[in-house]
Amino acid sequence: MDVKSKIETLRDELRQHNYNYYILDNPTISDYEFDMKLKALQDLEEKHPEFFDSNSPSQRVGGTITKNFETIVHDFRMYSLDNSYSKEDLLDWETRIKKLVDGDVQYTCELKYDGASMNLTYENGQLLRAVTRGDGVQGDEVTANVKTIPTIPLQLKGDYPDRFDIRGEIILPIAGFLKMNQERIANDEEPYRNPRNTASGSLKLQDSAEVAKRPLECLLYSIKGNNLNVSTQFKGLDKAREWGFKVPKEAKLVNTIDEVLNYVAYWEEHRHELPYEIDGVVIKVNSLYQQEELGFTAKAPRWAMAYKFKAEQVSTRLNEITYQVGRTGAITPVANLEPVQLAGTIVKRASLHNADQIEKLDIRVGDEVYVEKGGEIIPKIIAVDLSKRPNESVATKYIDVCPECETPLVRPEGEAKHYCPNYNGCPPQVIGRIQHYISRKAMDIEGLGGETVALLVNEGLIRNYSDLYELKVEQVIPLDRMAEKSAENLINGIEASRQIPFERVLFALGIRYVGETVAKKLAKHYKTIDALMHATILDLVAVDEIGERIAESVIDFFGDLENIRIVERLRSFGVQLEISAEKLANQTDKLQGNSFVVSGVFETVSRTELKKLIEDNGGKVSSSISSKTSFVVAGDKMGPSKRTKAENLNIPILTEQGFLDLLK
Ligand code: AMP
Ligand code: ZN
Repeated sequence: MDVKSKIETLRDELRQHNYNYYILDNPTISDYEFDMKLKALQDLEEKHPEFFDSNSPSQRVGGTITKNFETIVHDFRMYSLDNSYSKEDLLDWETRIKKLVDGDVQYTCELKYDGASMNLTYENGQLLRAVTRGDGVQGDEVTANVKTIPTIPLQLKGDYPDRFDIRGEIILPIAGFLKMNQERIANDEEPYRNPRNTASGSLKLQDSAEVAKRPLECLLYSIKGNNLNVSTQFKGLDKAREWGFKVPKEAKLVNTIDEVLNYVAYWEEHRHELPYEIDGVVIKVNSLYQQEELGFTAKAPRWAMAYKFKAEQVSTRLNEITYQVGRTGAITPVANLEPVQLAGTIVKRASLHNADQIEKLDIRVGDEVYVEKGGEIIPKIIAVDLSKRPNESVATKYIDVCPECETPLVRPEGEAKHYCPNYNGCPPQVIGRIQHYISRKAMDIEGLGGETVALLVNEGLIRNYSDLYELKVEQVIPLDRMAEKSAENLINGIEASRQIPFERVLFALGIRYVGETVAKKLAKHYKTIDALMHATILDLVAVDEIGERIAESVIDFFGDLENIRIVERLRSFGVQLEISAEKLANQTDKLQGNSFVVSGVFETVSRTELKKLIEDNGGKVSSSISSKTSFVVAGDKMGPSKRTKAENLNIPILTEQGFLDLLK
């Protein structure tokens, strides 16, 4: 088989497996086999850029950076929907319709998926572009990001029209949302509030590789176009399924408004059995001919109606307010409630966020409070039922000392939260910091878990993460549930962490606001911990993308003698506190301050290598040419529009050799 056919075969196979997995929910090969095939395809595509295809399954991993999302006018306006909240509203709607059309009316009932609406345009079976709803007339082009969503086909199957638009909702299923939040909490980041906002926020991320990491899905509900050969909404949904789209099977065709009411009642009760959130039901006149007769008002179709579920609310008693101390010392007040059934789960606790929130609600122990699960997964308290307040009730006094170590709390200027400043002595802070140090994205210490860390601290065996390196097998064995083998694994895991590269060590130190990305930036810029320790505020804020808040936090961290002592201990145990010599040898700042766009096919180095060369030498790579671009590196087959744009902006165009000469 020649290379081209090999590539085509792999692409076809991967598309089919993707479809089996995400749409049919019925994979026929293991994840591992899938990854191997994908890897094989990526290798071939890398070696043969002449067969590049922007809709290849390999493009799903993302990697395109979009700085500005282009505005695109929709071919078909994206209307809003009229809302109804009661049986009466729906009956009124039926009456209005019956006056405007002749004959019987059938309805398609669908769920109202709670996410961000999206218009996808397909041409010759290929995804051409994806545009957000925007104001309904025009939206933002987010194609690169949307391509990473596996339920969106990049290449259609079957008998599709030459060109059409299809609309759907980008959603984040609840399980995926909860998993993302677990990771954020583990990283001491503020959890996302609800799946809907997280889904719509994801579409506007600049780095599509980040979008690819989020478990987004797209549920489709409407096709638009000329000469589509479809006569009803319900058949349209079937067609979309045939072409490879994910169209939930809950959609139902009914003959009377009574059946519509039954559908509404059923889903109002069973909505929590779905893997994603819905906020209502959408009812559409089924016949497209009748739809045309009914037409639109200024803002919505007359032939469709949304039925919105009531936000679910219950009232229950506030038994106690407790306070949690996080790894950074931040205090979070928690409402402990009399357990109550709400939206399919039993709610016992709700976050009260901070002191201001408590004051605003004037919430007191013993109060009857209203708890609501709006879009959010974590329920919130929206009000107090003052009529039920007991006479002996006393206003809540926010704590002024740490519930764990009794140190007086502080509230930094401009922050909503209180903090326990006992950085080195407050148990949840000490334990939390070590737990962060060993976590997967930090030092990834195998054989050591969060609970064992707590045990080690409570037993007085370690007081900070540098103490880990002095632990002995004999000390660990007597601990709960520790067999000799696991004790050895633990010690080996700690040993192995000495090879973890500097940028991750920097993240592991747990400096507030220094997350993974910031740690990478700082490691790259300063190269050694000594250089970073000696940096002033002014030095720090001069580093690209480092703001004052981060800079101050770094200064604070290294201003603490105890931290310096711990870092010195890490050094004495051989932990990596600078970029390795090998990595350093390949890095310069020759290209500092210059931004590059790479286009075309290259001979001596691959595109990926070329981009890495730019970054390793201090340059920036961006995907589109603008007045800020310093150079375009052009290989063979550079796109003509890019060339014109570069010429118009007077941006120097380098050949591959010309670029390599820059580095000499
Ligand atoms: P609203 O934002 O309240 O005006 O409701 C209109 C939005 O509901 C549309 O823009 C869609 O994004 C969304 N929607 C969710 N599910 C459906 C569905 N099955 N049919 C039509 N629109 C839907
Ligand atoms: Zn404390």
